[in-house]
Amino acid sequence: MALIPFDDRDGSIWLNGEIIPWRDAKTHTLSHGLHYASLVFEGERAYSGVIFKGREHTERLRNSCNLMDFDIPMTDDEVDAAKQAVIEANGIIDGYVRAFCWRGSEMMAVSAQNTTTHVAIAAWEWPSMFDPETKMKGITLDIADWKRPSPESAPVHAKAAGLYMICTLSKHAAEKKGFEDALMLDYRGYIAEATGANVFFVDHEGTLHTPIADCFLDGITRRTVLALAESMQMKVVQRHIQPEELAEMSECFLTGTAAEVTPVSKIGDYSFTPSDISRQMVDGYEELVRGRISI
Ligand code: PMP
Repeated sequence: MALIPFDDRDGSIWLNGEIIPWRDAKTHTLSHGLHYASLVFEGERAYSGVIFKGREHTERLRNSCNLMDFDIPMTDDEVDAAKQAVIEANGIIDGYVRAFCWRGSEMMAVSAQNTTTHVAIAAWEWPSMFDPETKMKGITLDIADWKRPSPESAPVHAKAAGLYMICTLSKHAAEKKGFEDALMLDYRGYIAEATGANVFFVDHEGTLHTPIADCFLDGITRRTVLALAESMQMKVVQRHIQPEELAEMSECFLTGTAAEVTPVSKIGDYSFTPSDISRQMVDGYEELVRGRISI
């Protein structure tokens, strides 16, 4: 399949206060964000032209900036309005929104106190990663060698570019071995998350288990699925989970803005059969984002 590079597409991108032609949304090669990973971002989805949990994503974007010692030079309302304007300018119905902030070119060294903050928002049509039946077969994960760092080693709750270095490496290693993604453990050896999504397990009693988000992103989808499960009277436990416990789990699924709810059929040598609870969560999440139910 031929790739259409992201810098060679039609459309409009919001950059530092104005909507400009897609191909003109450029930054200089000498940018602090590029060299020192001082870039934070959001991945959001629009359903029927409206971003799901848009304000929560805006708040997380600001929080990520603050954790990286800068701020967005805009109010939350201005960010929300800019995102909506980009969706409309590109005629997006069901799509993905990428909002991001990075330090500019004024300083090209570790210290970056006087850089300006750049803000950009792009959006593109992206209906769903899988058709419903393929999705229910489940994807396969390898167990990554890289470990999620401790909160003493990195700003683990920021959605920051630098934290994705080990995700890309882990995902590449998994793909080279024929898996679709990787499950990452944390610095203590507990199960953490996939490379771009959180993880849930279902035991034989039908109880949901998900790791405590104390050293990785507490995903907006993760929180939504927790609320959804509780609204369905399911039993949910957030706790530290050891890799050996995978043997006792019957179902597994990932949650994320891009992944939505994606069942998993295999992690390393452990197999799972996506069944009732995974389907209920896949369907429930779809109903929620489409505004057909509210919780
Ligand atoms: N963890 C990582 C590393 C991610 O990239 C994502 C996707 N943003 C998630 C978890 C899930 O977060 P959310 O549900 O907010 O998209």
